[in-house]
Parts: sequence; C-alpha cells; structure tokens
Amino acid sequence: MLSNRQLFLLNTAQTSNSPRLIEVERAEGCYLYGPGGKAYIDLVSGFAVSNIGHRHPKVLEAISEQLAKYLHVTVYGEFVQAPQVMLATKLLDVLPGRLDSVYFTNSGTEATEGAMKIAKKFTGRREIIAAEKAYHGSTQGALSLIGNTEYHKAYAPLLPEIRFISYNDPKDVERITSATAAVVLEAVQGEAGIRIPDREYIQAVRKRCDETGTLLIFDEIQTGFGRTGRLFAFEHYAIVPDILLLAKGMGGGMPIGAFVARKEVMDVIKDNPMLGHITTFGGHPVSCAAALASLHVILDNRLAADAERKAQLFRQYLRHPVVREIRGIGLMMALQLDSFAQVERVSTYCAANGVIIDWFLHCETALRIAPPLTIDDHEIRQACDVIRAALDNCLHDPAQ
Ligand code: PLP
Repeated sequence: MLSNRQLFLLNTAQTSNSPRLIEVERAEGCYLYGPGGKAYIDLVSGFAVSNIGHRHPKVLEAISEQLAKYLHVTVYGEFVQAPQVMLATKLLDVLPGRLDSVYFTNSGTEATEGAMKIAKKFTGRREIIAAEKAYHGSTQGALSLIGNTEYHKAYAPLLPEIRFISYNDPKDVERITSATAAVVLEAVQGEAGIRIPDREYIQAVRKRCDETGTLLIFDEIQTGFGRTGRLFAFEHYAIVPDILLLAKGMGGGMPIGAFVARKEVMDVIKDNPMLGHITTFGGHPVSCAAALASLHVILDNRLAADAERKAQLFRQYLRHPVVREIRGIGLMMALQLDSFAQVERVSTYCAANGVIIDWFLHCETALRIAPPLTIDDHEIRQACDVIRAALDNCLHDPAQ
C-alpha cells in the first residue's frame, strides 16, 4: 500500500519540484504534530494565517455553534446571514470611518480581483499601478500585478494597462497620474523578503492619489490582524487607504478574505450591470463565525501589542555571524543569509529538529519567520536554539 506521502506526490497537483513533505496529523497552539507525535514549533503560521495559533478554543467554539445552525445557504449578497453581518459590523468598528463597506471573499487573490474591478468602474480609468516585487495573488488579474517578469512571460497575456513602480522610491510617485485608476501596494512587501516602506513614502503616495483622484488599494493580506504590531499595518503610516485587502490571518484558520472600501466605491457593483461581482461561497457563514471569534481573541488579548517585544527576543537570540540582517516589523521577519543553499540547509535542519521556517517567493536568500502571535517566550527561545544550531552548521562548512 502506498503511504500518504507517496499518494500526495502521485495524486495531488504539485506546485514545485521540492515540496516540504512534512506530514501533519494534528495542530494545536504553536505546534504541528506529525506521525509518531513528532512536534514542530510553527514559525510560519501556515504563511501568516494562524495568527492566534492553531485550533484556538474560541474559534472551535464559534465554528461548532455555527455548524449547529447552518452551512452554505445561498450565494453571497442575497440572504441576511448573521455571521456575515456581525463580522462586517465588528470589522467596521475597528476600521476608520472612511472604510465603511465590506465585501467577503474566500481568499486573498479574490479580494485583489474585486478591488481592481471596483477601482476601474468607480474611476472610469483603466491603468493600475503596482510595485516591483509585489505579490497580490495567483489568479490572472492579481497575477498581472506581480512584480516579477518570469510570471508575466509564462502566463501572458495578462491584464493590459498595468504599470510598475519601484517600491519605496519617492521618485516614482509622480508616475501616478490622473489616468491611474488605482495604486496597489502591500503595506509591507512580504514575498519580496519583508521590505518595510518609509512612512514618508506611503504618505507621499497617499497625497499623490488624493491629487490625481486615484484610489489607494492597500494589500494587508499578510500584514493584517496584528502581524506587524498594529491591528492593521496602515496605522504605522498614519494614512487610510481607499480599499483595504484582507485574508489569511482573518479567519483564525478558516478560508476567508475581504475587500473593504467606501460605500460609494463599493456600490458600483450593484447595477449597470447588476451583480457586477458575485461569489457562491464568499463570506461562508462558518468562516465568518471563525473570523469574528479570531478578531475578538486578537483584540481581547492585545496580541498585536506584544508582537514587537517578541520580535526583539528573536532578534536577540538570532544574532549570528551567518545572519547578514534581520528585517522585520512585529512578528513578520526575514533572516537574511548569503545564499539559497544556506537557506535550504538551515530550513531542512530546522524541520528535522522540530522547527518550521521557510523562505519567500521573490527572495530565496532569506528565511521567513512569522510565528503565531500567541507564541510564548519559552517557545521563542527553544525555536531560536534550533535555528542557531542550524546556522552553526553553515559556519562549519564554508562551501555553503
Ligand atoms: N496578497 C499578499 C500580500 C499575499 O501574501 C498573498 C498570499 O500569499 C495574497 C495576496 C494572495 O492570497 P491568497 O493566497 O489567499 O489568494
């Protein structure tokens, strides 16, 4: 009989030739458990999803309460479903008043798609500006915004009238003009290997968008829900975007995303033609119930507030001659090494010794560290001891 690992390679579509192949039997808090009970400290959080850890009891409780009521009942936007209403209301409660209408999706890339559509229809313009090294999702519209030409070449033609500016470069801000429908920016570039923009740069983009009537779409799919030390990263820059993209950490482990905008912008999908953006499963009631519970956990436990202190512990414990730089904001960090070989070596050693770390789509010479915000000081120390031992190995083999 074939093992699960063999069946995975045989029967499920592969996205690369080198999957991690860690077999997971269960997960709890900051830990994943494999066959035989092998424990791993999760420093990736399922790629910035498990901000409150795995299987948080409050999320499980909310899910089981909703399971007892109803699952899917109809397409998005028709029936009044309390979990959607309550989640939208709570989100708007914690967001600035300028963002006052929520559209729920199943994923981040769908949030990007919806946002591009409302921006084009609201402004009547076609040009969209994105940043080099950006990542906003994998569907064809979102992929058109990817700041990596290899993907453009492989999947062309993508959307027309997409222009790229260099991220955090004030000189490029002028390229936003009155022909630009929207500028789409990550609040912090995640897949580029954690690139944190200057506050002045983001403020200059905001100002230029105001001058040109361009909508500023802020992608907080990776930075949202406490990850950077604030509930949302736009708070660091003292600006409010016109459209906010959410997903990943939103659902407490359940699939959900959203784009949030001013009502007058959102309303363009209602008519002419009607049903301008529809989804069957967007805002699934179980996901909404989980997301609401997760948001309460983040707020009630002030998880965002402790992220920077915990990040300092990582910085302290991970000082090492092989580490060139530790970039980060809150618990969204990159450990810059010299080569992919080192990254691979360190992450393989860590996995074998019970710590999950990974790298980035557009930056394969850095290690991704984005643990659940609930990680405790002892777990941080334990995980860093393993990473340091892995880094020592690189030191002892100068070839790598
Ligand atoms: N935007 C950012 C910044 C992301 O990091 C991701 C996923 O990694 C996405 C969008 C796409 O989200 P999803 O994978 O849920 O479609």
